[in-house]
Amino acid sequence: EKRKLIAGNWKMNGLLQEAKDFMDAFGSNPAPDHIEVGLMPPFTLLHPMADRLAEMGVALGAQNVYYEDKGAFTGSICPMMLRDAGCHYVILGHSERRSIIGESNAQIRSKMNASWLHGLEPILCIGETLEQREKGVTNTVLAEQLAVLKGAPKSAALTVAYEPVWAIGTGLTASPEQVTETHAFVHAELQRLGHDCRVLYGGSVNPSNAEELMGCPGVEGALVGGASLKADSFMEIVKAAA
Ligand code: 13P
Repeated sequence: EKRKLIAGNWKMNGLLQEAKDFMDAFGSNPAPDHIEVGLMPPFTLLHPMADRLAEMGVALGAQNVYYEDKGAFTGSICPMMLRDAGCHYVILGHSERRSIIGESNAQIRSKMNASWLHGLEPILCIGETLEQREKGVTNTVLAEQLAVLKGAPKSAALTVAYEPVWAIGTGLTASPEQVTETHAFVHAELQRLGHDCRVLYGGSVNPSNAEELMGCPGVEGALVGGASLKADSFMEIVKAAA
C-alpha cells in the first residue's frame, strides 16, 4: 500500500505572518509516520517556510512552474528555483490554471518534463466540470487530461489529484460512490499508461468529510484548498486520514 499524502494548496493566500502563525500552531502536532503531509504555499512563502517545514517533516511544493530553464521570461519561475527553495512537489494542471489562465494539456506536459528533469514530483490535477459530468463524458475528459502522460518515463515521480471542478471551493463534494467509481477509472487509465501512482481526491475536503472520503477505495490522500489555511483544520484532516 502506498503512503497517503495530505497536501495543502494555499492558492493565492498567505502573508509572512500568517505562515509563521501556521507553523507555530502546526509544529506541536506532528503527523503519524504512515501519512505524508505536504504544503504548497505561494512562491513568496517557499523560502521563508522551507527550513521549519523540513524540520517538522512536512514536504514543500509549489503551485506552478515554467518549463524553460532560465532567461528572458519575465514573471516566471523555473524548476531549479523551486528545487533551490526546498520544493519536492509542484502542482500542475490545476483547474483554476486551466480555466482562468488557459493552460493547455501541451503546456502541462512541457511543465511535467521540465519538472522531472530537475527532480520535482508533479501533482497532476485532473477533473471534469458539472456540465461534463451531467453529459456523461467524465471519463472521456479525464482520459484526455491523463493522456499528457503518454510516452513519459514510467519511473518518473508522479502523484495525480482527481478534483471534480464543481467540488472545488463550493462546499459540494463528490459522493463516496462517485469518488470510488471515478478513482477506479483513473487508476485503470494510469495502469494502461504504465503509471502506478498515488491518486488523491480534492474538492471541498474538510474535517467533517475527510474520514469518509479518505476511506473510499483507491483514494490515497487529499489535495486540500480552503481547509488547509488554518493549522487546526488541516491537522484534523491529517488525523482523519490516519
Ligand atoms: P477547496 O478544498 O477549497 O475546495 O480546493 C480544492 C482544491 O482546488 C485544491 O487544489
